[in-house]
Amino acid sequence: MKIHIDIDCFFASAARIVDPSLEHKPMAIGGRSDTKIFNKEAKNQTVNFENSGSFVPTFYKTYEAKDDDIDAFKDKDGKIRGILTTSSYEARAFGIKTAMTIREALQLCPHLIIKAPNMSLYQELSHKLHDFLSTRIPLIEQASIDEFYGDLSGWVEDEDIPAFIDNLRHEIKKELLLPVSIGAAKTRYIAKLATTYAKPFGCKTIETHDFDSFINPIKVENFAGIGKSMKARLNAVQIHTLGSLRERRGTVESWGPYAKELYKRVSGLTDAPIVTTHKRKSIGISRTFDPLFDRNELKRRVHVLARHLSFAIMKLDVIPTVFHLSIAYDMNQKSHKNISLAEIFTEKKFDSLCMELFNTADTQKRLQVIRLSINCSSFTRDSKKELSLIGFDEEQKMHTLTKSVQTLRQRYGIDALKFASEM
Ligand SMILES: [Mg+2]
Repeated sequence: MKIHIDIDCFFASAARIVDPSLEHKPMAIGGRSDTKIFNKEAKNQTVNFENSGSFVPTFYKTYEAKDDDIDAFKDKDGKIRGILTTSSYEARAFGIKTAMTIREALQLCPHLIIKAPNMSLYQELSHKLHDFLSTRIPLIEQASIDEFYGDLSGWVEDEDIPAFIDNLRHEIKKELLLPVSIGAAKTRYIAKLATTYAKPFGCKTIETHDFDSFINPIKVENFAGIGKSMKARLNAVQIHTLGSLRERRGTVESWGPYAKELYKRVSGLTDAPIVTTHKRKSIGISRTFDPLFDRNELKRRVHVLARHLSFAIMKLDVIPTVFHLSIAYDMNQKSHKNISLAEIFTEKKFDSLCMELFNTADTQKRLQVIRLSINCSSFTRDSKKELSLIGFDEEQKMHTLTKSVQTLRQRYGIDALKFASEM
């Protein structure tokens, strides 16, 4: 399944991170110039941030918190200028909308708090969310400053997706203090539509069996890609809902290639792959569990983590050369071990490597373990030059095997094939 992640009223939520007293109050972000990034048409802009490495939580102590920035929107003669770029849900309850003038908004809600935009803060938060998502999902595509698509196929079983995205939503809130909504569906277009109905701070998964009942009653203008003119055209032939659009395939398709594509998107008949624009520097997996003493069970869990991580590495098509395993024990003790190895990646070898790392890292054998993490970094290209030539032919064969295993898992799920050591 594909997922779509969207930050709820992003700029307002960002302002609340800086100044938590804005929480639960009607508030909005004003803008005077440079507003093109705020409107819907700007969503095609690429937001391309270099990945600065691993995710680090930040405290925004450097930003000054003020109650209201309305003065910033007054011109010389004290007249309020500017429009709203984002408003909180509390403000929306007063009928306040994006692109409304600040003056108009203040008439609807006189106690509305107006904050000035802070682009560098938005970029920083967007970047951090991207990094965070990359640590949780192998394929992440950034669609705009506050929107991401992810591909969960083969990574999370369909039946586990509602729990996975719900957990992800709470993790993001906890780690980054950002409220997001997440939609999941077979295609990215339907996932995005699902997000709209998950807001605010919610999750929605569209299963195959509830596809029709979800899609059909929705008004055409609520589907991304149906603008004012397309809406007018559809309404003119008595098409008001996505259900009626789906029933009128011939009519819609006769309008040309754009309408044809639209028909397919609405019906879940077309999809586009998730494209990572991001230079990933590392990938890892970790799990926290109830204190566990049994070393055999711990080793089995290392095999399971290794298999999942191997799947992600193959999906990313990278060759990591630095491997890191860390163990968290109860009594607040920690231990970790690194290995550097410039060889072709194969799952079997990776699995043995993880086992070796675990055996050497497990220095506190009297303690119970509460968390296992494996991380892989320093990716290299698949070139003979950079990699060790010792046993190259054998490795090439194993690499081919790992690739075949990958193909099967992408088709049948990550649990379709396991090494015997894990059983
Ligand atoms: Mg948003």
